[in-house]
Formats: sequence, C-alpha cells, structure tokens
Amino acid sequence: MPERYNLILNCGSSSVKYKVFISNTETCIAKGIVEKIGSREAGIKHKTENQKIHKVAEVLSHKKAIQLILNFLLHKEKGIIKNASNIKAVGHRFVHGGKYSDAVIVTKEVKTYLKDVTFELAPLHNPYNFQGVEAIEDILPEIPNICVFDTSFHQTIPDYAFIYGLPYRYFQKYKIRRYGFHGTSHNYVYLEAAKLLKKKKASVITCHLGNGSSISAIKDGMCIDTTMGYTPLEGLIMGTRSGDVDPAAVLHIMMEEELQIHEMETILNKQSGLLGISGISNDMREILKEKGKGNPRAILAFRAYCFRVKKYIGAYLGELNGCDAIVFTAGIGENAPQVREEVLKNMENLGIKLDTKKNAQVVGEKGIISADTSKIKVFVIPTNEELMISKIIDKLVKE
Ligand code: ADP
Repeated sequence: MPERYNLILNCGSSSVKYKVFISNTETCIAKGIVEKIGSREAGIKHKTENQKIHKVAEVLSHKKAIQLILNFLLHKEKGIIKNASNIKAVGHRFVHGGKYSDAVIVTKEVKTYLKDVTFELAPLHNPYNFQGVEAIEDILPEIPNICVFDTSFHQTIPDYAFIYGLPYRYFQKYKIRRYGFHGTSHNYVYLEAAKLLKKKKASVITCHLGNGSSISAIKDGMCIDTTMGYTPLEGLIMGTRSGDVDPAAVLHIMMEEELQIHEMETILNKQSGLLGISGISNDMREILKEKGKGNPRAILAFRAYCFRVKKYIGAYLGELNGCDAIVFTAGIGENAPQVREEVLKNMENLGIKLDTKKNAQVVGEKGIISADTSKIKVFVIPTNEELMISKIIDKLVKE
C-alpha cells in the first residue's frame, strides 16, 4: 500500500498555513504558508527536506491559496505526494466548535451547524476556517475533511465554571457562556506532560503563552477551567488583548470618548495588552529588551503580564487541590525564561520550586525546569497543534 498523508490546514482571515504528516507517524514532510491573501503581492512559502521556496504572486482568495498549496504538493515531477488519492484526509483547525466536544468528519449536517451557529459565535475566525473545507470539497471531492475545534477540549468545564454572572436568559437566548480556546494546544501539551510524568491521568496546569495567551486547569485528564471565555479576550493580558477588565471601565471609556462598539472592540483586541500598557510593542522580545534598559512602561507591562499568569496558576491550584505539573508552551512560554521565573518565584509554599539554572537553559525545546525537590514538576513543552490534528485524523479515519 502506498504511503498516505494527512494534510493540515489553518485558514486565518488573510493566511493559510499548512503541514503534511505521514499518516500514523509524527513525521512532517512539508509545511508552508500563503500570506496576505486578497492582495496582488501575497507571500507563498513552502519547505520540504529538499526544497525551500519563497514566491510573491497575486492570490485573491483562500481557494486559490489552497489550490497553489496542492499544486506544489502534487507537482508531477517535484511533488512529494504522487497522487491526490494518497491524501488520507484534510484536517482543518477551527476556532469555535459550539456544541462539539470532539473533532468531527464533515457532513452536510455538520456544515449546516457550523454555518448556522458557530459563524455567529466566532465571526472573525470560523467563516475563514470554513472556506478551507469548501475549497477542499471543490478541488478534492473524494477526500474526507475533519474539523478540529479550539473549543472542544474545554467542553468538560462544569456549568458553574462556564456560566457568567449575567441574567440566565442571555445564556439561553444567545449562548453567552465561557467556551475557552487554544484547546488543541492545551490537549497536546497535557498528553506530552502525562507521558513525562508516566501517568495515564494527571492533573496539570497548562500555560499557553503566545501572542494570544491562556491557561487551563486539567484534572485527571479533563479540562475543568480555562482563562479565555466567550471570546479569546478574557483572562490573561496578551500581546494586544486586554484580558480581564471591569466591564464598567469599558462602558465609562466608551461614554467619555463617545466610541462606537467596533472602535472599543478594536481597542480591547488590538491596542491593549503588552502593547497598550508599554506603548512599545506586543512582542515580548521587545518588552524584555526595553525592560533591560530600565524603561518603566516595559517593566510595568512585563510585571502585569507575569502577575496575571501567577494569579491564575494560584486559582487553578485551588480548583485542582494541587497538581502534578505545570507546563509552559507557545512563543513566550517556550522561549522566555525571564517570564517563567517571574511567574513562579515565591511559590515554594505551594510546592513549586524552579531550578533557575535549568530554566535559563531550556529555550525552544522540551525540558524539565523545576528543582529536584519541587513537589510540582514544571515542564517546557513546545506545542504542536498540527501534529495533534494529524493524530486525531489517524483516530477518526480508517485506512
Ligand atoms: P501566536 O501563535 O499566538 O501568534 P506564538 O506562540 O508564535 O503566538 O508566540 C508569539 C510571541 O512569542 C511573540 O509575540 C513574542 O512575544 C514571543 N516570543 C517568541 N520568541 C521569543 C523569545 N525568544 N523571547 C521572548 N519572547 C518570545
């Protein structure tokens, strides 16, 4: 039987990222991105073991972007996939899954639900994710499509943790509740942590600290709480998102500055967080650089970011009655030892002791950074959402 492949697509508002894995393995044989979709100068990048391609071309739609990716992968002479029928399935990263607590194979009913319910819940993301499915259905109608949702890992969160203190009718009428995001990443690093702990079911606090940041509390393998809410705006201070804010403060700003809803939405999502506090950048690398020079706003942004992470770890230690491990992942979690140190300092009484030397050494790779005497282990585990989606395909789609 010829080798089979899992193609993973991540369609954003103006980009399509992809990875190709050999089915039933962790081997990624190709990856790339089409950026600035909708422009005459879209960037197209592909990387395989033998090829590294960077082109600029007109790409006006997501379908065109996906067609270009497939043309590259299935190229008659140089393509790494000989025949389209060697693609076992295409996995699509979806931000919002609404009611779905697991990944699903796309059917007519699934499509109807996604359009009718989730477009309203995640208008900035799900319609683009959906375009990926429609493109594959058009171009490769024989290949099954699998949707993997950022929200589904959080569907085990109990009602008292997901309900807001708002009139209940809004939950009934508009499905206003906490959903949580980054679930595929939290799930992946949790499973890796359980392997390191040599436990079938572990209790772990997973910290996904990237441009978007969230933390999850996982009890015996089940997510019981997470910091993001109805949208990814809630919880931690992020690159440009505010995280938790008193809604009364938002109303006051809107009133004082006579802002429209969409203007306030932009401020909360794109002009707040590290960028908003520091006035410098949303990028932690820049914040650390300026902090090193003694810039007071950079110091404040750094402290505020780390403080919020610490606060939620404390809350989750309470919810979990202690845990086996804390995991750091994503851009900041994997690469910024200074952030990890600031977050975990002075937590010895809760059973957490960092080995500062090991912490400084583990950058962008898997490692244990807690002291041998620490009751709670602390791991750095690089996330790999695409690999997680590929593994889900292997579970759902038979050869
Ligand atoms: P996302 O996927 O949400 O865009 P990533 O997980 O790629 O985010 O994380 C991006 C963030 O990681 C950047 O904004 C930057 O702040 C941070 N980052 C990346 N490398 C480093 C580093 N070496 N030191 C500190 N922060 C880093």
